Amino acid sequence: MGAMDDATSASGRDGYPAGTTPENCQRMISLSLSRNPTVKFLREALTKSGCPIDEKFFKIEQCSMKVAGGFKQDEGVVICSNNVTHQEEVDVALTHELLHAYDHCRAANLDWSNCEHHACSEIRAANLSGDCAWKRELLRGNTNIQKQHQICVRRRALISVGLNPNCSMLRATSAIDRVWNTCYNDTQPFDRVP
Ligand SMILES: [Zn+2]
Repeated sequence: MGAMDDATSASGRDGYPAGTTPENCQRMISLSLSRNPTVKFLREALTKSGCPIDEKFFKIEQCSMKVAGGFKQDEGVVICSNNVTHQEEVDVALTHELLHAYDHCRAANLDWSNCEHHACSEIRAANLSGDCAWKRELLRGNTNIQKQHQICVRRRALISVGLNPNCSMLRATSAIDRVWNTCYNDTQPFDRVP
């Protein structure tokens, strides 16, 4: 199947006001596609890799789980309008999901039901999307640890891989450990963490 769901950012937490209308979500997606440099770069990288995408690749849904979005290999990227509020959240969610699309495009044999394959893409997406940018970590209340970025990437990847029905939390943890060095250091298609 290859469906993935990704945990929400700060404003999606319980107790926070969160969510927007499908119309406003669409407007934010369009803004992101036309203006966000990282999103634009990833879209160009997909085209160069032989996987061009158009606006129909992006869909808006009301999601029952507390997730910002997801990627489905045969359908495209979903953004959950009921779980995103701000433009920055949409920018990060699109970047994250487009990294999955990029990984799917560049690796012909990527198997999303394989916990290590999935773990690698989640590590990359959390590392490169801005998911773990310092400001967002502050909003989550995580302020006091060295190597905060790595810790955040590991935690976010674990949440997402743990949502994979083929991967228990235990399997997700060991999968992340096994692929960590390779995938944390793999910043393609960027030269370094953007
Ligand atoms: Zn993800």
